[in-house]
Amino acid sequence: MRVMKFGGTSVGGTAQIRRVVDLVEQARKDTRVMVVASAVTGITNLLVDTARLAQEGGAVDAALSRFEQTHLSIARELGGELEALAPLELGLAAISTELRGLLQGVGLLRECSPSVLAHLSGLGERASCLLLEALMSARKLSPHAVEPRHVLICTGDPLQATPRMDEIRARFAPLRDASGPGLMLMPGFFGGDERGKTLSLGRGGSDYSAALAAAALDARLLEIWTDVDGIFSADPRLVPEAFPLAEVSFEEAMELAYFGAKVLHPKTIAPARERGIPVRVCNSFRPEHPGTLVTDSAAPPDHPVRGLSFLRDVALINIAGAGLKGVPGTAARVFASMARTGISVVLITQGSSECSISFCVQQSESDAAVRALETEFEVEREAGKVDTIERQGQLAVLSIVGDGMRHRVGVAGTFFSGLADVGCSIAAIAQGSSERSISAVITEADGPRAMAHVHHRYFGTTEVVELLVAGVGSVGGELMRQIRQQAPHLRAQGVDLRVCAIANSRKGVIEPAGIPLEQWKEKLEAGTASASLDSFREQAREKRPGRPIFVDCTSSEDVALAYPSLLASGLHVVTANKKANAGRMAHWRAIRETASRHQRRFLYETNVGAALPVIDTLKNMLRTGDQVHRIEGILSGSLSFILGLTEQGVPLSQAVGTAMEKRFTEPDPRDDLQGTDVARKVLILARELGREVELEQVALESLLPADFDADGPLDAFLERLPSIDAAFQRRVERLRDEGKVLRYVGSVGQEGCAVGLKAVPLENPLAAVKGGENALSFLSERYSPTPLVIRGYGAGAAVTASGVLADVLRLVEGPLT
Ligand code: ADP
Ligand code: ASP
Ligand code: MG
Repeated sequence: MRVMKFGGTSVGGTAQIRRVVDLVEQARKDTRVMVVASAVTGITNLLVDTARLAQEGGAVDAALSRFEQTHLSIARELGGELEALAPLELGLAAISTELRGLLQGVGLLRECSPSVLAHLSGLGERASCLLLEALMSARKLSPHAVEPRHVLICTGDPLQATPRMDEIRARFAPLRDASGPGLMLMPGFFGGDERGKTLSLGRGGSDYSAALAAAALDARLLEIWTDVDGIFSADPRLVPEAFPLAEVSFEEAMELAYFGAKVLHPKTIAPARERGIPVRVCNSFRPEHPGTLVTDSAAPPDHPVRGLSFLRDVALINIAGAGLKGVPGTAARVFASMARTGISVVLITQGSSECSISFCVQQSESDAAVRALETEFEVEREAGKVDTIERQGQLAVLSIVGDGMRHRVGVAGTFFSGLADVGCSIAAIAQGSSERSISAVITEADGPRAMAHVHHRYFGTTEVVELLVAGVGSVGGELMRQIRQQAPHLRAQGVDLRVCAIANSRKGVIEPAGIPLEQWKEKLEAGTASASLDSFREQAREKRPGRPIFVDCTSSEDVALAYPSLLASGLHVVTANKKANAGRMAHWRAIRETASRHQRRFLYETNVGAALPVIDTLKNMLRTGDQVHRIEGILSGSLSFILGLTEQGVPLSQAVGTAMEKRFTEPDPRDDLQGTDVARKVLILARELGREVELEQVALESLLPADFDADGPLDAFLERLPSIDAAFQRRVERLRDEGKVLRYVGSVGQEGCAVGLKAVPLENPLAAVKGGENALSFLSERYSPTPLVIRGYGAGAAVTASGVLADVLRLVEGPLT
């Protein structure tokens, strides 16, 4: 015996009904079959909504005709294949008449009792079964219609009835018998009481009907035919990267379903498990796919976590008071009051101080839950022993489920740090006593991105990383090019890098799904003037992208000043802009404090030496306890390039021009020539060493002569520059005769911070550094007498952009395997 349950979409049209009958016909070759069918997709919602409408006195004709037409049109399309269409039409018309009568009654009384609603909402299942029965008969499969109200005997809440398994088995006995019918057909979703009155099994309950039938028939297999390839590692609508699971254990399936995996009604598994009946969840649209097998002997999973599930519409109720501490029976009273009110509790937590108990219920039951508690603890509230009974709504439960997490260390850690990564705060936590599930109560709106990220952390599936980029000059523009070039490779490694916002000083564009990078210039040109940092912040707060990173490729002081507020709104910050780290010490501190408070990262490796690993190396030396005595080096690729050219006889002004053309200089080359840029880098290094220094404390000697007027507009400055070419050239030649070269050197030592021109003997390693190179030496406790030296190309947009990209990728944690 096999029980085959077909869901709403699987009977949702003529082609699907044919498909179902094909599948049943195929199965009948090997075994006896019972088919359990849902209503045509959307019909149960239509019925429930229409009942509510009638109760409010609204007009129901349109809904009635939709109900009729949906089924009639399928019937007529099947017409040619049927023995006769008329009996089917009559059967459907009888159901429609019944529905019209019920709705009239509801409308007249302005009341829809739970019993009436249970009866009315099951009409969809009855209609779809008539369609199936007609086609099965036409194919000579001799279906035997089973009336669920006579066999699925239940009791209790008419909308959430409790089956009486002993009675059900007794009623099924004739059908179970080997001499019983070879093919049976039963509408899902409802059963009946002793007297045959309809009792509903609750929304999605057809799965449960099928499981009860399978248990009562001693079936060898229960098949749940739906519209996806089985049970997925997460709801595929929320996590596009989720994948179907080949096998799961009964316990895992129960936990997943209980915590919201809609693919199975939460109560489906228990009856099957009790009788050891394997359950296969499969896709009626792709019957060749094996789907998911739920069994006792599911293979141990490759990952500690088998899947994630997400339960919406949850409220957290908290009862607290010093007077609850150590009072026996408090918890019993809390939950007894819920039971009396018919409220089921989703999840419970209690702090060890025993002063508060928190639990989750469905949002729709939360008012009743609070009222029940207020009544139960009235005396304590008056005596001040209970001070709060509060409710927090719009929450959801995100759970990880897996047999493999029993006795495994670190599984919960990954879960919670994953939630922290996406800035998701946790209202409550619960772990199943079997160590098979861990649940976190979070804000419902955070759910989708939290799901996607946690899924990525456990399964290494592609993670979306969203960038908001300010500044698309030479570095920013190059970054766009590099991201575009690297995107396919990164995607192959599980990182989907998307630029979701771009702004320059005039315009900006925001596209939450990602800006197509081959068109970023056009998009920005067509952008709005208002897409400023404010809108970035808003974007981060409201649209809540997965792992938003603000990337600063400007050299703007204003942008640098905005970092604390950007970090506070949930963005990580990666910057090539030195103005923040070289700004006032108070600002420097504020950035770090805000980042740590909001658990965001602030990365700035390109602030010194472009992409050379300077900051990271220095941090590691300090972190591991080294003491740095002196840092010295050539910290300006632009000046090293310019000085290199002057050694070859190129006049200074011309060398500056070439460096500007190659975009080796800061936007204003005076920042380089006057030493300000190097001074900033020295300051940044000094601050890494823990020194409290301001920019004006860096002793600064300009490359330009003291009596040269470097002020005013850039054009005028560049026009005046050739006037010092000759003198500079003479200085270079004189030094050459002495066996020396000019180098612009920055240093941090005991004496303080300094930058300036130095005549360096040819045998000094710094003499060899030119043509856009940077070199830094770190003399430290460990690196002494030979200093640690970092040297390499350190100028230009390409390397700087690559360093920015590396910082961005540093924020993407490797998937956990
Ligand atoms: P049916 O009408 O066949 O009973 P349902 O809509 O009740 O179908 O359930 C199937 C749907 O459940 C899928 O289309 C999918 O969107 C959703 N779903 C949620 N969580 C999961 C999961 N973990 N695995 C598969 N599907 C899931
Ligand atoms: N048709 C019912 C519902 O939509 C039962 C089911 O599909 O399982 O809730
Ligand atoms: Mg369902």
